[in-house]
Amino acid sequence: MTVKISNQIVGYRVKKADADATEHQAPVHAETKPVEMNENIERPDFLLGTTYKIKPPVAEHAMYITINDILLNEDTDHESRQPYEVFINSKSMEHFQWVIALTRVISAVFRKGGDVTFLVEELRSVYDPNGGYFKKGGVFMPSLVAEIGAVIEKHLKAIGLLENDELSETTKRILAEKRAEFEASQSTATNDDTSNDYPANATMCGKCNTKAVIVMDGCATCLSCGDSKCG
Ligand SMILES: [Zn+2]
Repeated sequence: MTVKISNQIVGYRVKKADADATEHQAPVHAETKPVEMNENIERPDFLLGTTYKIKPPVAEHAMYITINDILLNEDTDHESRQPYEVFINSKSMEHFQWVIALTRVISAVFRKGGDVTFLVEELRSVYDPNGGYFKKGGVFMPSLVAEIGAVIEKHLKAIGLLENDELSETTKRILAEKRAEFEASQSTATNDDTSNDYPANATMCGKCNTKAVIVMDGCATCLSCGDSKCG
């Protein structure tokens, strides 16, 4: 069939072979596209927030890191939770200036949209020339900036923007058994170091930066991430 087009062509649509007859009338509106994070999105009056407490030894008082998220495309198939802003509060004033600057820059990156997960690696790889510190539980933090990065990582995992690499239940059970066996074999084992979750003589793991590596039967096993080397 030939159709003479006498008017100007202002748009077209490719017909799908399996298109539903009732569907072909539906106009394609630009506004049905899901909203992506961008800096023109107006801040709603309330946002969903999560506050994380950290107690770095390099600061006199605890620090409270609040990350507020915005819900985009609420109640649609495209609903997504995106970080919108970050605040850090503390009684300590010694880091005040750069902490405020850092939170403003991070918030600005969040609002720009796109992939913000690169921030985690950038922050976590900042090394304090004075040497970093061990957190409770034996995890090594190369700097306060890195610990802020670790909190953002935890948050992005919680809202599903980063993959959660939590150990499987089976791995956890095997590590717990190994640990019990190791502790039983240590006649000198004492439990006085309660600030450390892992055996006192555990050594540093190169994979997860935690003092949790024990040697048993010629194999070095990390009780934190399960990394193991034999020989
Ligand atoms: Zn490890």
